[in-house]
Amino acid sequence: MTPSDLEFDQRHIWHPYTSMTHPLPTYPVVSATGVELVLSDGRTLIDGMSSWWAAIHGYHHPVLNEAAKLQIDKMSHVMFGGITHPPAVALCRQLVAMTPDTLECVFLADSGSVAVEVALKMALQYWQAKGKKRHRFLTLRQGYHGDTFGAMSVCDPDNSMHNLYKGYLPNHLFADAPQCQFGDEWQSEDIDSFKRLLLQYHDEIAAVILEPIVQGAGGMRIYHPEYLRQVRQLCDEYQLLLIADEIATGFGRTGKLFACEHAQIEPDILCLGKALTGGYMTLSATLTTRHVAETISQSEAGCFMHGPTFMGNPLACAVASASLKLLADSPWQQRIQSIETQLKTELFPLKSHRLVKDVRVLGAIGVVEMEQPVNVASLQRHFVQHGVWIRPFGRLIYLMPPYIIQPEQLSKLTNAITGAIN
Ligand code: PMP
Repeated sequence: MTPSDLEFDQRHIWHPYTSMTHPLPTYPVVSATGVELVLSDGRTLIDGMSSWWAAIHGYHHPVLNEAAKLQIDKMSHVMFGGITHPPAVALCRQLVAMTPDTLECVFLADSGSVAVEVALKMALQYWQAKGKKRHRFLTLRQGYHGDTFGAMSVCDPDNSMHNLYKGYLPNHLFADAPQCQFGDEWQSEDIDSFKRLLLQYHDEIAAVILEPIVQGAGGMRIYHPEYLRQVRQLCDEYQLLLIADEIATGFGRTGKLFACEHAQIEPDILCLGKALTGGYMTLSATLTTRHVAETISQSEAGCFMHGPTFMGNPLACAVASASLKLLADSPWQQRIQSIETQLKTELFPLKSHRLVKDVRVLGAIGVVEMEQPVNVASLQRHFVQHGVWIRPFGRLIYLMPPYIIQPEQLSKLTNAITGAIN
């Protein structure tokens, strides 16, 4: 890329959560292979982000490349209304087989946020079909579920865009964020705020939505499985639907195939995305039970009211299908276990650093929470100079590398973090 390309980028192209007048620097990446991103000046960076939880197998993977090439030679896209095709059927068969037995019906959509919209709409239509007025959602503070309106409305009300869109966003219910961390002793009062809201508002609530075990973009918090277990019990007690947003945690990231497994619970609706295609392209899936699907189908509308143009995109389905097979055929549990052990060994010493508030590790996720917000631009420059790609936000410097990362590459990432903090 030329300097004029970068100038054009700064002047004309919006990046995520970025100002058009004072944009943060962007780094020109021209290719990526394995766990390395290649900059246009030839430098390579070890990737600590998996492109936001997605590229679990690394980049330019021969199996995924082949799946994309084979499919593109047959057809890249065809509408899903009135048509079906082998890649969608193969992928949905795999999704139904790998998720809990009760989750039988799959809705394919374009992105994680849309999967969340779909889940919320499913819950609303479910209660409509049952002739009950239930319009509110109960969720957790510090949660994050995406950037579209429905998804935004269930993101943490303080630490998100709620203030900007006051008046446009519906007024949902927010229980205190779980305080009891994964691995700590369970404190029964942790669930009190959630219980109180249920007791008071259960007649108005369509569903509970949460990120199981790991609250990602809302703070990279890792909470106690007992919290999730009790949420499931309470949903059963009050006959509420439970939506698990596993868009970030799904497909092995936390050490289990799905984070719900840490609490041995099953949701009524499950949202998947990000790593679904191995990070190759955007695709998401919302799965639900036959009971929910059939109830919705008996609603006034007679069907579920959603159907995006690129629903079930064959190219994305073919790559997703190959990615799930690749995961199943790989020793992913051992890989994640060794990443977890190494992250603990190399990051936990930072716990005693005066600038560090907390260090948390679960599966292939390592989080260093600083006492103060970091300077993203200067920290990122430091990381790039040290040959690694790590994108901090707020007070958080965190790693979620591709599962194929080698120990010496992972050490390069953790050393860069330790060096920067020191
Ligand atoms: N839910 C969770 C838990 C997420 O982490 C994200 C993305 N960060 C989303 C939903 C939204 O997904 P997308 O960015 O693909 O719309």
